[in-house]
Amino acid sequence: MLNLVLFGPPGAGKGTQSTRLIEKYHLIHLSTGDLLRSEIANGTELGMEAKKLMDQGILVPDNVVIGMIRSRLESNKDAKGFIFDGFPRTKAQAVALDELLSEEGTDIHFMLALNVDDDELTKRILNRGKDSGRSDDSDPSIIRKRVEEYNNKTAPLISHYSEQGKYRSIPGLGSIDEIFDRLCKEIEA
Ligand code: ADP
Repeated sequence: MLNLVLFGPPGAGKGTQSTRLIEKYHLIHLSTGDLLRSEIANGTELGMEAKKLMDQGILVPDNVVIGMIRSRLESNKDAKGFIFDGFPRTKAQAVALDELLSEEGTDIHFMLALNVDDDELTKRILNRGKDSGRSDDSDPSIIRKRVEEYNNKTAPLISHYSEQGKYRSIPGLGSIDEIFDRLCKEIEA
């Protein structure tokens, strides 16, 4: 199996690169943001609760996203591997993911971290908001809140994966193709 965590702040390009990586390596894409937005679109109770937080740029509770990931892992037992995109975002999520994978006799191979500076991130997110219609992408104060959540709760995960020797830093500036090549080189190194 090949299990990757695609890591980086909001707007770093995790979704864009995931789409390409799953094609090339035949992996299953697990984006907690996408899963939550699909709960919202379906009008579920979980979706409605999550929306209140997402609209403020605040992380949803760990047990909610861990539950979603657990059920996707259970229903894809014969997968060649997974790309985790936007998950884990807290230490508790990272520990839960390690446990879930170890129950399946596997683990995370790499945490590929896309590095992009703050100015570029805000530009990309505001641009994406114009097309995606995502409410959390169109308001600079919500974007700032998401970056703050990232810096406080998510960035510390770098040390979780460094300690396991799995952290790989990838420059996230350049064309989509260039960044994709860097990711592939790292995976195949
Ligand atoms: P981005 O990477 O641009 O922030 P996502 O789609 O990954 O976009 O996340 C959008 C929102 O969904 C987050 O701001 C947060 O509220 C919620 N969310 C997504 N994944 C998680 C997670 N693993 N833990 C907690 N909240 C999450």
